Amino acid sequence: MLIDTYGRVATDLRVSLTDRCNLRCTYCMPEEGLQWLAKPDLLTDDEIVRLIDIAVTSLGIEEVRFTGGEPLLRPGLVGIVERVAALEPRPQMSLTTNGIGLKRTATALKKAGLDRVNVSLDTLRPDVFKTLTRRDRLKDVLAGLEAAHDAGLTPVKINSVLMPGLNADEAPDLLAWAVAHDYELRFIEQMPLDAQHGWTRDGMVTAGDILASLHTRFDLTPERSDERGSAPAERWIVDGGPHRVGVIASVTRPFCGACDRTRLTADGQIRNCLFAREETDLRAALRSDAPDEEIARIWRLAMWGKKAGSGLDDPSFLQPDRPMSAIGG
Ligand code: SAM
Ligand code: SF4
Repeated sequence: MLIDTYGRVATDLRVSLTDRCNLRCTYCMPEEGLQWLAKPDLLTDDEIVRLIDIAVTSLGIEEVRFTGGEPLLRPGLVGIVERVAALEPRPQMSLTTNGIGLKRTATALKKAGLDRVNVSLDTLRPDVFKTLTRRDRLKDVLAGLEAAHDAGLTPVKINSVLMPGLNADEAPDLLAWAVAHDYELRFIEQMPLDAQHGWTRDGMVTAGDILASLHTRFDLTPERSDERGSAPAERWIVDGGPHRVGVIASVTRPFCGACDRTRLTADGQIRNCLFAREETDLRAALRSDAPDEEIARIWRLAMWGKKAGSGLDDPSFLQPDRPMSAIGG
């Protein structure tokens, strides 16, 4: 098991497949992009599958989520999914993506064994989409979403980040649209994980703001607390059901006490928290021919040292060196 000193057990592995992206969301990375990882530093497909194999067979991982950067940019993605689906025990598998390219790949991903997708979409207005992501690709995202739904990668979840002055007024429209299309919408509070360090507490849209805005158009009933488990989203039943809406309030209502996550970066570093400032190098162990037991031991040790919380409320909080796109959100 991957257990820490507070007794939390990690069963959910987030794997970043690349730090590159074809969008430039303002809350994530600058217009010019970032200094991408060099190819030799990236884990190979074989190395990724080996680490996931160790995680599911020796460390109690039950769920694997592929992310990035934009994971659909990884050429070997379908093959990786297929090989992970053949592992024993077979983990649940999902993908967090901006949806560009999903139209082309959804059926192949489903066939390879992917269970679900989370697609990030912050606005339904083409002009706002272009400002927010710095690319004119809304149509591609909508087509990708439809393809994912048709391929059975369900429930299709949507991640939305609201930004003041851009799409902060769009929460009710996004929810009405998501309900009509049978997508499960979750709002994510903007976190201090952007490469430009532009986040400010005063300049973010909070869970309170989002709920107040949704209440103007919908009747929301809180889901029973025992239904939440370790899920980061608090959820509400929309207008009596069956649809639900979630809010991931990492900043104003942190859920660190129930965290069950461990993260692997595209260059083979283990992070025990999104906000951790330390990483543990598994790539060096992999490339020095360490046996599986040794890699599992290093991974366990990395998780043992997980801090109680993100530290966001501490005046001494320091943003991690890597931005969200390089950690794997
Ligand atoms: N490119 C893929 C995507 O956008 O879904 C996967 C990687 S992205 C880093 C994963 C999620 O992190 C997205 O839903 C994105 O909206 C979210 N995200 C990125 N930067 C964020 C920030 N500063 N605060 C909150 N969420 C953020
Ligand atoms: Fe790319 Fe996702 Fe970051 Fe947007 S949030 S720039 S899609 S990695």
